[in-house]
Amino acid sequence: MPEQPRSRRQTRAAILTHLLQSGGSFRPPLAKAVRLSEASLSRILFDLKAESLIEEVRRPAPYVGGPTGLVSLDGSVALAAFELTAQHLSVGVGGLSGELRYTERVPLPKKPTTETVGGVFREAMALLRDWTRRRRITLSQIGVSIPGLGRLSISANPIIPCDVGRINGMFAEMFADVPLEFTNSVVAHATFHRCRTENYPFNDAHLFVLVSQGVAGTWMDDPTETDALQPVELGHMVFGPDGPRCRCGHHGCVEAYTSLPAVAGLLGVAETELLQLGSDWVSTIPMSSRVRQELRRRLFRLGLAIGNTLNVKPCGGVAISGWPSMLAEDDRNAVVEGIDACLLGGRKLAQVSLAFVPPSTGNDPQAALAFAAFCLASRGGMPATSTEAA
Ligand SMILES: [Zn+2]
Repeated sequence: MPEQPRSRRQTRAAILTHLLQSGGSFRPPLAKAVRLSEASLSRILFDLKAESLIEEVRRPAPYVGGPTGLVSLDGSVALAAFELTAQHLSVGVGGLSGELRYTERVPLPKKPTTETVGGVFREAMALLRDWTRRRRITLSQIGVSIPGLGRLSISANPIIPCDVGRINGMFAEMFADVPLEFTNSVVAHATFHRCRTENYPFNDAHLFVLVSQGVAGTWMDDPTETDALQPVELGHMVFGPDGPRCRCGHHGCVEAYTSLPAVAGLLGVAETELLQLGSDWVSTIPMSSRVRQELRRRLFRLGLAIGNTLNVKPCGGVAISGWPSMLAEDDRNAVVEGIDACLLGGRKLAQVSLAFVPPSTGNDPQAALAFAAFCLASRGGMPATSTEAA
């Protein structure tokens, strides 16, 4: 297939997202990965260095031809992250490589409303403004992660009540010059894994599934494309209209069987206790064989939901994160069997590889920070509003 010519923004985005996902690279493999001659790469790296987006240290290369420059993202870039969870809003400032310089948590009330969640955002924004002003720090990007955020839920979020339009307005008042992006929390977690997990199993397009307080997925594609990250509401695939009620308002969604609150019911422990334990419940709460049987049935359903998603849009890989990743292989196999049972042609014929990656909940605002880094890198470190120039 002939290659499409790339704009300057896309070429810069290819370099920056590669560095973000690899954590740093020597010049020759970097040139190869982003399909540039070393001379062209050199010219672009010169610009990126002048803009303080990358740095380079001379280092002996681990192959013939060294020494050369090890290129990595500049440690001085400051990003802000806001991550909303069921219990609190995390705010933080960090760098492109994920190191946090500041973090604070503002608790949510027990029964949050659109007004109180808006107030919590305002408080967190004020904390961030004070902190950055005192240190004269200029933010390059703000990333905001909100559970349940979707195309239809800008003002009516079914998971946590919040009015994104109004929150957007507050940001415009307090941080007028800083590029701002909102995303669904599953997209933020997917980005976190893609950028921060060493030896992340997939380089190409794949499906990322998060099983935690909710169940959701993200299509992960070429990071330089505008629709590189697409949330997939596979958790709300209905398996029985007579099933348990889901927080989305329907009955019998796969989420109503496999989310942490649903599993709390099965295990007979309080939801708050299980949410506190997070994925660790797997090693701390004993299970009777009857409960284990039922858990496997639910995992099988999760597999069916994933397989059905792949039937709709085939792709070569699935990464599953959350509590199922902590289970013993025998239990986890129920997910694999579910995928096999409904994927057209089965997993082998469809050439789908499957990987369980460790859970990432409880580390907020790291996912929102990774998302902010991704936003900056995928627009090539260029202003959000600048026009395309080839
Ligand atoms: Zn639902």
